[in-house]
Amino acid sequence: MTEELLEISANAQRIIETEDRHGAHNYHPLPVVLEKGEGVFVWDLDGKRFYDFLSAYSAVNQGHCHPTIIKALNDQAQKLTLTSRAFYNNVLGEFEAYATSYFGFDKLLPMNTGAEGVETAIKLCRKWAYQKKGLEAGTAKIIVCDGNFHGRTTTIISFSNDPDARDEFGPYTPGFISVPYNDVEALREAMKDTNVAGFLVEPIQGEAGVNVPNDDYLKAARELCTKNNVLLIADEIQTGIARTGRLLAVDHVGVRPDVLILGKALSGGVLPVSAVLADDEVMMCIRPGEHGSTFGGNPLSCKVAMAALEVVKNEKLAENAERLGRIFRDEIQKFASENELVTLVRGKGLLNAVVINDSAESKTAWNICLRLASNGLLAKPTHGNIIRFAPPLVMTEEQLRECIDIIKTTINEFSK
Ligand code: PLP
Repeated sequence: MTEELLEISANAQRIIETEDRHGAHNYHPLPVVLEKGEGVFVWDLDGKRFYDFLSAYSAVNQGHCHPTIIKALNDQAQKLTLTSRAFYNNVLGEFEAYATSYFGFDKLLPMNTGAEGVETAIKLCRKWAYQKKGLEAGTAKIIVCDGNFHGRTTTIISFSNDPDARDEFGPYTPGFISVPYNDVEALREAMKDTNVAGFLVEPIQGEAGVNVPNDDYLKAARELCTKNNVLLIADEIQTGIARTGRLLAVDHVGVRPDVLILGKALSGGVLPVSAVLADDEVMMCIRPGEHGSTFGGNPLSCKVAMAALEVVKNEKLAENAERLGRIFRDEIQKFASENELVTLVRGKGLLNAVVINDSAESKTAWNICLRLASNGLLAKPTHGNIIRFAPPLVMTEEQLRECIDIIKTTINEFSK
C-alpha cells in the first residue's frame, strides 16, 4: 500500500521543511503543524480542529492548557522560577508533603523527565542493595521485561530489546536481566539469582502497544519481590495519574510498589516534571551530594504539579477514564467483530490500542492515522500495525461517541 497524502497548506509545508533542514531527524511526525490546544482539542496553523488521541503520550491527561494549571504556572512565574537545590525554596516542601500524602509514601525525590525518574529509581535501588540488602559493591542486578520502554538514556536503552532504541548505542550498562512480560514463572526463575535487588516494570506496557498483563501478574510479582527481598519498582510514567481508570494502574490489583516513578501528567503536560516516591527505608539511602538535578524541585514545577494533581482529583478524571474506556472498548470490539481490518482492541481506562490486521511492515496503520487526521482526529501508530488511542481524560461521553464514529468511518474507508 502506498502512503496516503495529507493535504497541507504552503505555510505548514514551509515549517515542516524548516524542521527537516535544521533539526535532527530523530522523530517521524505526522505532517500536521499544531499551534493551539484547549481541553481535548488541538488546532493546526490553518485553524483546523482535531481531537487529540495521543495526549502527548499521556502527559496531557488534564487536557491542553488547563486553566487551573496555567494559572498556577503564571502566578508562580511572576515570583520565582528556579533556585537550584543549593538553597531552600518555599514551594518544594509543600509539594513533597502534598504528593507523598496523595500517593501514600514517606518521601519524594523530584526530577524533570521520565527517563531521569527511571535513572533515579535505578540508582536508589542499587544504593539500597548495598546498604540494606548487603550485596557486594557493583554486583546488584535489576530484572526488567522484554518489550519494556523506560526512556532514552544510555543505561535505560541498555536493557531495551527494541533494536531502534538500542542498536549502535553501545557499550551498554551491565546489571540488568530481561524476562518475558506477564510471565510469573520466568520472574520466579530470575529471582533465584541472589544478586537481584529490583524488579522494574510497567504495569501496562504502553509503548510496546498497550500490553495489559493478566490480573494476577503484578500481585504475583509483589509476592515474589517481598519473598526475595527485592524492590518492586513501578514505572507509572505513562499509566499513572488516572490514565487507566485508577489513580495508578497498580491500584486495579491492589498492589503497592516499593518505588513509584511518575512523570508526564504530573505536570499536565505543562513542564517536564517527574518524581520518585518511596518510604524512608529506601529513600534515605541517598545522602546529600549523591544525586540531583539543577531543575529538579524548582518552585515553578512544584506549583504546576500540585495544580495538576488537584485537577485530577477535583474533576474525577480516574472515574471518567474508567467509564469512557469501557464505552470505547465495547464499541470498538463490536466494530472489530464485523470489520476484518481490526483484529482487536485492548487497554484499561483511556489507554487503549487497536491492532490492525496487517503486517507491522505495512503502511496500513500509518495511512489510517493520516486519514484520521483528515477526518479531525490525531493518533499515531506504535510498532507498525498498532494504533494507540489515549485522549485527554477531560473528554465527555458525547465527544467520545463522536470520536468512535470518526474512527469507525475512517477504518471503513480502508476496508472497502
Ligand atoms: N517510562 C515510560 C513507561 C514511558 O512511557 C516513558 C515515555 O514515553 C518514559 C519512561 C520516558 O519518559 P520521558 O520521555 O519523559 O523521558
